[in-house]
Amino acid sequence: APRTVEECTSTNTELVERPPIEDGRIHVLIAERQTAGRGRRGRNWHSWPGAGLTFSTLWRFAPGSAVPAGLSLAAGLALARALEKLDVAGIQLKWPNDVLVHGQKLAGILVELLPMRGRPPAAVIGIGINLRLPAHATVPDQPGGITDLAGQLASPPSREELLARVLAELHDLFEVYASAGFPALRAAWQQRNAFADLPVRISGEGVETRGTCIGVDDDGALLVRGEDGVQRILSGEVSLRVD
Ligand code: ATP
Repeated sequence: APRTVEECTSTNTELVERPPIEDGRIHVLIAERQTAGRGRRGRNWHSWPGAGLTFSTLWRFAPGSAVPAGLSLAAGLALARALEKLDVAGIQLKWPNDVLVHGQKLAGILVELLPMRGRPPAAVIGIGINLRLPAHATVPDQPGGITDLAGQLASPPSREELLARVLAELHDLFEVYASAGFPALRAAWQQRNAFADLPVRISGEGVETRGTCIGVDDDGALLVRGEDGVQRILSGEVSLRVD
């Protein structure tokens, strides 16, 4: 059953540092408030009081198996599907794991693998969704700006309903992903690719590339066609922008 805490630094940090010992395959931790919500590369996830939903789920994979490639993308797809079922129009996925609506960031995902220490492989998937942002809320480094569900829907869901929908979708998708891996989800991801066929620039971790985004491969790597042919960008530790 999901566990809710009033406040924590980050639900991902909690689950990564103190994973529950019980052996269920999926575990959920929700925070009313995060004091140090995280994004990738040491960046922050900003939460305003009562403005959104922040939670993490721990997924345990079968003993002896590996976590299939493309987990961030799979989680993004589950979130996109849940939002689409709530009638949010124009949902797009930005590689590797942002959820945008018409270019504005609605939700973020942070995936971290648990150190194995002799246990079956497990991953923590943290999700932040903006429900009702304060007027004029902004964050750094989002060229397209940010949005919330209240701005996208005439009657936005309650936090409880939103959580239930997203968890249901994550559960469904986990089954497919754990057994068939990302190849089974690739087409659905690409249908929602925010940057499909657009000129893009990738930077970070010593990588600096430009080209046309042509999609993702079976490992969830980004495919960019440039002057020297098609490049595969595997690491999520880079930043992707429209060029
Ligand atoms: P980018 O979106 O720039 O490619 P990223 O995918 O690495 O970066 P994440 O690490 O997933 O981004 O999320 C952190 C970034 O998300 C922050 O630097 C900020 O730009 C943006 N952000 C933080 N809080 C929110 C929020 N509540 N709503 C929308 N965007 C946010």
